[in-house]
Amino acid sequence: MRCPFCKDVEDKVVDSRMSDDGSVIRRRRECNECGRRFTTIETVKELRLRVVKKDGSREPFDRNKILDGLVAACYKRPVALAKLEALTAQIERDILQNFDREVESHHVGKLAMKSLREVDNVAYVRFASVYRAFKDAGEFLDALRPLLESPDDAEVGSAEHDRQENARDWRVSGYGQRGQEA
Ligand SMILES: [Zn+2]
Repeated sequence: MRCPFCKDVEDKVVDSRMSDDGSVIRRRRECNECGRRFTTIETVKELRLRVVKKDGSREPFDRNKILDGLVAACYKRPVALAKLEALTAQIERDILQNFDREVESHHVGKLAMKSLREVDNVAYVRFASVYRAFKDAGEFLDALRPLLESPDDAEVGSAEHDRQENARDWRVSGYGQRGQEA
């Protein structure tokens, strides 16, 4: 680290201290050239990954959008929320490991699709059909939001009844129309 006094770049660390929450490390350094001491601060670089949408616009990467999409696709399916949270964390890890600054939204959609395939076929088919119609995971996830905001739990019926309700809910929620407009 360049010495702020003599501009030499050789120094030795004489003390290291981590902040209580572990987010910052301060190092006391001593310049090998002039012997003066100075402090450097080390923090984790903020993760600022952005998602590139089909129209070229960018938005900050948001894991909640992925989770929302998975939850919507698993609407009334026997998949625990904890499982979807774990899948979301796995997708996020995958993306952060492989992309530094930007990731295409279709890649995010593909990973979500792949994850669903492993847990529930119906959810996978829903996600895949809608996702392919939209060709853009961001737009797709926006379209899923109304479904999440109006859960239909007014009736309790037979499994068959639930299944039909489920299929109808899925149809009337508007994806088909939006997909055709696009
Ligand atoms: Zn110096």
